[in-house]
Amino acid sequence: PPFPILLSGEVQRGFGRGGKDLGCPTANLPHESILPMSTVTETGVYYGYAQVSREKDGEIVLPEGDARVLPMVMSLGWNPFYKNKILTAEIHIMHDFPTDFYGHEVKAIVLGYIRPELDYTSREGLIEDIETDKRVALKSLARPAYEKFKTDSFFDISN
Ligand code: ADP
Ligand code: MG
Repeated sequence: PPFPILLSGEVQRGFGRGGKDLGCPTANLPHESILPMSTVTETGVYYGYAQVSREKDGEIVLPEGDARVLPMVMSLGWNPFYKNKILTAEIHIMHDFPTDFYGHEVKAIVLGYIRPELDYTSREGLIEDIETDKRVALKSLARPAYEKFKTDSFFDISN
């Protein structure tokens, strides 16, 4: 099995569409940073842990509590902007951040797959599925076998 998959990259600006007003902002990773995901082929929703760095451009700007290792759900999909030739990953971290963190480094350990991508005819359907994904992720991460990844040396322990 390909998991765990380790990813890291600087959070990029997306089109600012949807994410926030669906109650689900997603930190967009640069394309290069998701090369380790090439070992899996399914697009769709994954779960794992993520950590946002406190610093941006060498200055500490994020409170310590917001740079902990936190549960996340990640969507992996073909980007229509690049004519569906480029895979993109977006991470929703299950935490209330005081500010945006564009330009910060994000590290993630992907631990499992939840479901394929679906086409939504309604906004309600999409929101409902996101809520289900979060519950599934939290429930899966509660398994004792996953505990060790939260303190993996891949993450920054100085936080
Ligand atoms: P964009 O299209 O720019 O990605 P989004 O609406 O998806 O816009 O918002 C994503 C941004 O919101 C992230 O890059 C990050 O700076 C911020 N953000 C705030 N809270 C979260 C969170 N819990 N998970 C992910 N990103 C968050
Ligand atoms: Mg986004």
